[in-house]
Amino acid sequence: MNGGIVVYIGMGSNLDRPADQLRAALQALHGLPDSTVLGQSSVYRSAPMGPSDQPDYLNAAAMLSTGLSAHDLLHALQAIERDQGRVRRRHWGERTLDLDILLYGEQQIDDAELTVPHVGIAEREFVLYPLAELAPDLQVPGLGPVRDLQAAVDGKGLVRVPFDWKEER
Ligand code: ATP
Ligand code: MG
Ligand code: MG
Repeated sequence: MNGGIVVYIGMGSNLDRPADQLRAALQALHGLPDSTVLGQSSVYRSAPMGPSDQPDYLNAAAMLSTGLSAHDLLHALQAIERDQGRVRRRHWGERTLDLDILLYGEQQIDDAELTVPHVGIAEREFVLYPLAELAPDLQVPGLGPVRDLQAAVDGKGLVRVPFDWKEER
């Protein structure tokens, strides 16, 4: 087992069969060392946040317990992104997979590599809706409960899509 810090990961994809990318990413999270996946949200479709000449996104969130440090977790998530063919072409551009640390226990981290809670957490409906399914009462350090943050974004840009996390490829 692991040290048991509960963390939330935001997942997003808009390239190369996004549904398959999310399923593969969840499998990879199950394979993280010293970690246990505790749950995953529904999947939501939304228009891109950055450049608009890219496909719609599928987004979800996962909840993990981990013994990894925040930085070791970040590096492990970046390795999963690379394994799934992530190439950085432009800011907020299209990608096969984005894995962001939304919350790492109750810690607040701000250094050259890592900002936790994630910078976009309070503004992004595609983060807050999945997160609110997993942990509506959770206190986001410095910002308040997830439920209140979710209530402050409108959610009209999101469509919850039927999704089977276990579907065979
Ligand atoms: P955004 O962070 O606005 O969602 P993005 O996910 O597209 O944008 P990336 O290209 O995936 O951005 O990552 C850029 C850098 O963000 C990474 O190199 C990483 O060091 C940094 N970063 C800072 N905080 C976090 C975090 N909480 N989770 C993941 N990466 C983070
Ligand atoms: Mg991101
Ligand atoms: Mg990212």
